[in-house]
Amino acid sequence: MAKYISTSCTLDCWDSCSIIAKVKNNKIISISGDERNHATRNFLCKKGMMHIKMLEHPDRIRKPMIKEGNSWKEISWDKALDIISYKLDELRSKYPTTALLHWYHAGNIGLLKNIDSRFFNAYGGVTVPVGSLCAGAGNEAQRYDFGKALSHDISDVTNSNTIIIWGRNPINTGIHLVLFLKEARKKGAYIILIDPIETETKKLADFYISPNPGTDGTLALTIANLLIEEGLVDNSFINKHTLGFDEFKKYVADFTLERGSEITGIKREDILFVARKYGTNKPSSIILGFGVQRYTNGGYTIRAIDALGAITGNIGIKGGGVNYNNNRMDEYIDFDYLQGQYLRKYSRKVPRPEIADFILTEKNPEIKMLFISRANPITQCMDTQKMIKAFEKVDFKVTIDMFKTDTANLSDIILPCRHFLEDVDLVCPPASHSYLNLCNQVVEPEPWIPSELWIYNELVKRLGLKDFPIRDHFWWLERVLMPLTKKTGISIEDLKNGPILVPGGEKIPWEDRVFKTPSGKYEFYSSIAKEEGFEPLPVYKPISIKPDNKYPFYLLTPHSKDSLHSQHFVMVDDEIPTAYINKEIGLNLNLSDGDLAEVYTEVGSLQCKIGLKENLREDVVIIYEGWWVQKRGGVNNLIPEKYSEIGKHAAYYECLCNIRPIKVSH
Ligand code: SF4
Repeated sequence: MAKYISTSCTLDCWDSCSIIAKVKNNKIISISGDERNHATRNFLCKKGMMHIKMLEHPDRIRKPMIKEGNSWKEISWDKALDIISYKLDELRSKYPTTALLHWYHAGNIGLLKNIDSRFFNAYGGVTVPVGSLCAGAGNEAQRYDFGKALSHDISDVTNSNTIIIWGRNPINTGIHLVLFLKEARKKGAYIILIDPIETETKKLADFYISPNPGTDGTLALTIANLLIEEGLVDNSFINKHTLGFDEFKKYVADFTLERGSEITGIKREDILFVARKYGTNKPSSIILGFGVQRYTNGGYTIRAIDALGAITGNIGIKGGGVNYNNNRMDEYIDFDYLQGQYLRKYSRKVPRPEIADFILTEKNPEIKMLFISRANPITQCMDTQKMIKAFEKVDFKVTIDMFKTDTANLSDIILPCRHFLEDVDLVCPPASHSYLNLCNQVVEPEPWIPSELWIYNELVKRLGLKDFPIRDHFWWLERVLMPLTKKTGISIEDLKNGPILVPGGEKIPWEDRVFKTPSGKYEFYSSIAKEEGFEPLPVYKPISIKPDNKYPFYLLTPHSKDSLHSQHFVMVDDEIPTAYINKEIGLNLNLSDGDLAEVYTEVGSLQCKIGLKENLREDVVIIYEGWWVQKRGGVNNLIPEKYSEIGKHAAYYECLCNIRPIKVSH
């Protein structure tokens, strides 16, 4: 008889869908959304519907592999783990353990995937990345403003009268929000889309504006100035619950409509319209995307947008909020124990966007070994060729992955791992909702593949490490969820039955108006930002590039509907990426739809197929990120290493490019 098993999608997505899998004889018959999660309902997105295909994909690695010359050979688990533990032992006998760089990211957002950090801390402490390729600048910005990032449940947009979708494209990246936006609109909400790219999400909007790339901060400060000038601010909220408004008001006074319009390229009347709509047709919510902060000024931009919520009192109320991310679980999870940072003797940090430079130049100590888990940095980090050079410089590299990704391909040993449908884990609430979701094991991998926990347990035994209990998934989950169980009574047994709303998750963020900042207020002026070496106010800093004759286009590399970062590009064959350009511009360059062209920048070039778009800005080229280098993709070949001042976030969008047609000889 078929069984129904509860789990959760572990892709790095806004939604973390609750899933019900139908299984018979260790075979998954179907998966669907679990409607007990009211936010993600009973359906999955296109990527979610590919989980079974990914699990059963013929290219999955099922045995450890070692590189011999230019080819790969399967080896036993014992042999692979013996070699790796020998190398780890050798490294710690010759160098400080920081000669090892452990690179990890969010390829699987299961909580127990963080066990890799405990392993490397128990080993002695290694070099680890800090900063972000994802949401880091915005997270830091909201830490300065609110104390931490908290989002309203996505269903709360149905309580808004005005909704600004700022730099997010939910049709591609968070499909469940779309239904709530449609409901909100049916109830009369007015939806404004702000995005340099006219995405499909425009069809959900009543009004659309396209700021020049990297100028969203100026737009927000100009709107703030207009709201203040026109008296559309909530003085009671400002007086009781904020800090530094006078300094902020003084700063934004220079952001006149004329200046704002000139910098952003948006008509004055349109900026005025957005400001008035947001300030009068309340409650108003802002739904932020991550693209807004993929510039060197990204953190300040998010701070400027946050300020709009605070000056209009759209914080702590139903239908309001500046919704970006959700850090609801800090008080319920013992991250210290899970990651074991207190165990390490050594520690060294490197900004994620600078990783290649660091590996190539650092001498104290030089990186001798790379260990990569839940990540594909060769495809996802900026300046691919430099990354490849950096990888090639390192003596010994191990990657844990389900597939022979670009990163795995450059390693010396690949260890296969389980798909989440084969594993036990826990998914914490994402930005869209506040459900905790246990991933029950749905099927046993056939042939057997171990979980990552098993891999670390085996390495611990071989190396004789202390302070890493050799236990199973449920022991670890119970141990790290002790604060949750103590405070709320929720146990792992409860979670096995399906999604559970985190206590307090039903509340509107900041409804008590007590913020997690040092002052307990919303901080326009952040003393922490100042202490950490940044401007205390949300200032505007122009980005470092401007199109010119040599490079007339901004290169923007958003997320596609078809893949979560690089993961689903394993499915691609016999294709090359598409570079989308404005139709008129394309025709002027003698390019038609489907023609071959070379997109080039100061650091590299990429062959693409041309896609002409009528509604795309004339100064922008779009190529979706994630396409594997080995499959003739690799858009990060084009992007130089740069990062945001706040949050050390990869400034992917601060890149100019040009295009030349490729003549095909017949
Ligand atoms: S990728 Fe996101 S929307 Fe799609 S199934 Fe996973 S969590 Fe849901």
